[in-house]
Amino acid sequence: MQDLKIIDQTSELHEARWWEAEPNGRVHCYLCPRHCHIGEGQAGFCFIRANHGGKLYSLGYAHPAALQIDPIEKKPLNHFLPGTRVFSMGTAGCNMGCFFCQNWGISKSKADQAASTYVPPEDVVALAIRYGCPSIAFTYNEPTIWGEYVIDICHAAKEAGVKTVMVSNGYITREAFHDIYDHVDAANIDLKAFTENFYGKITLTHLQPVLDTLQWLKNETDVWFEITNLIIPTLNDAPSETRALADWVLDHLGPDVPLHFTAFHPDFKLRDKPRTPPETLHAARATAMEVGLHYVYEGNIYSGGAHTICPSCKKLLIRRSWHDVQENHLKNDCCSNCGLAIPGRWTNSTAPKLSRKAQAIAEERYGDLNL
Ligand code: SF4
Repeated sequence: MQDLKIIDQTSELHEARWWEAEPNGRVHCYLCPRHCHIGEGQAGFCFIRANHGGKLYSLGYAHPAALQIDPIEKKPLNHFLPGTRVFSMGTAGCNMGCFFCQNWGISKSKADQAASTYVPPEDVVALAIRYGCPSIAFTYNEPTIWGEYVIDICHAAKEAGVKTVMVSNGYITREAFHDIYDHVDAANIDLKAFTENFYGKITLTHLQPVLDTLQWLKNETDVWFEITNLIIPTLNDAPSETRALADWVLDHLGPDVPLHFTAFHPDFKLRDKPRTPPETLHAARATAMEVGLHYVYEGNIYSGGAHTICPSCKKLLIRRSWHDVQENHLKNDCCSNCGLAIPGRWTNSTAPKLSRKAQAIAEERYGDLNL
């Protein structure tokens, strides 16, 4: 538990959900499987859920530390509104301790260390529409830990016809899962490895809760989801591990959940490992397709493994270069050659709209924001 003197420096406190009071003024946060028991004046492992006066507060609420416009393919999502821009945001903190974190500037920041502005949920939606984004992504740090803000943004987004996306490590409890995921449209879940040894030593968490989340998504929601596996040389790149991961995806989630193998680059506490060679990604993709998965991608490198190919007739359906969509040959969500239905959420049926008043407020408050 982090002993932080952050409460006094936080101007607005938003009471958290998913907690219960304990004896001696402590609180138990059950939002994620860490189950932090937090003393007065302290925050949980994630830095941004803190006990003040025997109550748990969400310090990340309405305080994004990063706002940016990204291509949706960067999340990565290849079967969700391809070629569109996504309004992307993150706060401070994280509930995992990954040594290889590529956003550690904010994920390892405490709420009062990361530069942030106050942006209430309805303003996030107004900004997304102002910047021509049909969707909003909760990303950069772990959005589960600011689930209260996520849910409120989702409500405002739904009203305006804007879609929402979780980019998550999947480390969430059963108690909180539906509270959050029943409101989002899409997700990319990191399956960081397929061994408990890796999860325990390199991320300071456990594998099984992430597998549980993937199965809940498949069996209990309508959320469109894809999976990312960042391959790190010598740590999780054994061909047998990749095969076991792909076998598990096929058996538990089916062949149509897109799987992205992405390349690692040295960062944060893991600088002694080399970049992932492209050949490793090619081999992983070949293995997963041999196992029977239909949509397997390579990311963080320039490669033909970024394209969407029809699993039946092998026609190239979406040509990509890095995160750019160069060609899209889908016809009514199907292969334009053989007619096979290609799973995904390919178009937004509701055009995002914003009242004039909301538009004017967004202009007034964020007119100088340059995203
Ligand atoms: S969300 Fe944060 S405070 Fe809550 S259990 Fe997880 S790490 Fe601990």
